[in-house]
Amino acid sequence: MKNLYAPWRESFIEQLDTDKKKAKKCLFCQKPPEKDDANNFILDRAKHCYVMLNLYPYNAGHLMVIPYRHCKDLDLLEEHERLDLMNATAKATKILKETLTPDGFNLGVNLGKGAGAGIPGHLHIHVVPRWNGDTNFMPILADTKHISFDLAKLYQKLYRAYHPEKTKGRLK
Ligand SMILES: [Zn+2]
Repeated sequence: MKNLYAPWRESFIEQLDTDKKKAKKCLFCQKPPEKDDANNFILDRAKHCYVMLNLYPYNAGHLMVIPYRHCKDLDLLEEHERLDLMNATAKATKILKETLTPDGFNLGVNLGKGAGAGIPGHLHIHVVPRWNGDTNFMPILADTKHISFDLAKLYQKLYRAYHPEKTKGRLK
């Protein structure tokens, strides 16, 4: 078979290479293969995405739901990946409701640097529990405030809620 002359492919292939290089340096791509969920604060692994505690949270129990695939936009995900992402988000709110009894939630996706995404190349859904009397959403997204709680303890608590079968009878 003859090769078609398609010079535009070149930049497309270059782009793919750049995406691969970027994915190599991407924190959200690096964490799951390390298989060290406790130290990486990964709470749960679904088929196409995983759930991780945010290390720089806006509030206690701030989780992120992250597709395994390095992808910067919702429309670049396959339908089954989006479904998995949404199901994991719903589960995250359920787990947080049961463990931390918040008064509400802010769910958010910052697409692109201009929107304030910390890791703009790899999309992720923020799940932020809210309590009556904490600050409003906008200041919360604009600035990190000081939060006093122990991240490791919180991880244990949420991990137990995610995996009751694994943690039965252990730790209190
Ligand atoms: Zn990535």
